[in-house]
Amino acid sequence: MLFRPASIRMRMGMRSVGTHSRRCLPNMQDGGGGGCSLLQSRWKSSLPQLDPVDRSDDDNNGGDIDWDNLGFGLTPTDYMYVMRCSQGEGGFSRGELSRYGNIELSPSSGILNYGQGLFEGLKAYARADRPGYMLFRPEENARRMQVGAERMCMPSPSVEQFVHAVKQTVLANGRWVPPQGKGALYIRPLLIGSGAILGLAPAPEYTFMIYASPVGTYFKEGMAAINLVVEEEFHRAMPGGTGGVKTIANYAPVLKAQMDAKSRGFADVLYLDSVHKRYVEEASSCNLFVLKGDTLATPATAGTILPGITRRSIIELARDRGYQVEERLVSIDDLVSADEVFCTGTAVGVTPVSTVTYQGTRYEFRTGEDSLSRMLYNTLTSIQMGVAEDKKGWIVAVD
Ligand SMILES: *Cc1c(COP(=O)(O)O)cnc(C)c1O
Repeated sequence: MLFRPASIRMRMGMRSVGTHSRRCLPNMQDGGGGGCSLLQSRWKSSLPQLDPVDRSDDDNNGGDIDWDNLGFGLTPTDYMYVMRCSQGEGGFSRGELSRYGNIELSPSSGILNYGQGLFEGLKAYARADRPGYMLFRPEENARRMQVGAERMCMPSPSVEQFVHAVKQTVLANGRWVPPQGKGALYIRPLLIGSGAILGLAPAPEYTFMIYASPVGTYFKEGMAAINLVVEEEFHRAMPGGTGGVKTIANYAPVLKAQMDAKSRGFADVLYLDSVHKRYVEEASSCNLFVLKGDTLATPATAGTILPGITRRSIIELARDRGYQVEERLVSIDDLVSADEVFCTGTAVGVTPVSTVTYQGTRYEFRTGEDSLSRMLYNTLTSIQMGVAEDKKGWIVAVD
């Protein structure tokens, strides 16, 4: 990252695209700290049509990418979307696509100094039946960002702005969307306090950004079942904290536990509640389900658990199949005596857990063809990839 005593700005060499680039430059205003309430009003005017993007130099579809060996690494794509909100502006102004590349930030920006930032994650799939792409419940990501922004004293884009920006990003990076069955274009929206601030207060300017990367499976195990270990020393969240929102600040503190677990051969850790150290919460980046008989249980989202969109969708799909689904406290005893355990998330999909290690004992669970997790995985992915009919209105077309 380059530093210059200016607020966030595209690097000189980066080509600005679209027809409205000049009009969208930040309108910086001086003055005291930007209060949340001042910035909460949303920009509501009618949204512009998709910007015409010059893609004349992007004709080599897919580049040299090896679609069969995509992991969850970053493959830089062509364009990113940027939209700003300055103090006194009342909301986000119109955003624009620009060439993907480094950004500049003031050394005293709110995000760098105080971690005022949120992220989101969603996927776009190539359609099987015709050209075009599909998004899975993107309005839910938009709403979750609004809830998180409220908690972090930030203004947030409207649902319409968010979804429009995601669509623009997908269309501009269309050649990076993996072919059907090979993966997805992972879309990463960010909302950060980009304005300069020294005293502890909300930043005076905010930037909403989206970039994208083609991805395959999240765990190196691929579609295979993973081994988890229950973490007893470190906690991910606490009551009254920010575990229930996707703030950037939640993730660096879990790296240590995750790296230790990986060095011992586990894919990830399972966190316990920080008060009783008896109830399982979730893994570093995905939610947890335990099946016993015909009852599927998942920890209730009461502030320390990230309310996953995949989690909510799986609850609905399991109920449709006649399973009783309970959102409640899930104790260590519930976990170790379960028939099946699996994790859910946009990045991980529905990943079966074959073993959980707790206090040195390894507990095994059912996985494979006849498991509920496999059935739910098949149901969910066939909706997401457009193979099954979308009876729930979860799919948003991009074309
Ligand atoms: C993003 C995330 C999830 C999964 O949420 P989805 O909306 O299903 O992708 C679960 N737990 C944590 C901690 C997360 O950051």
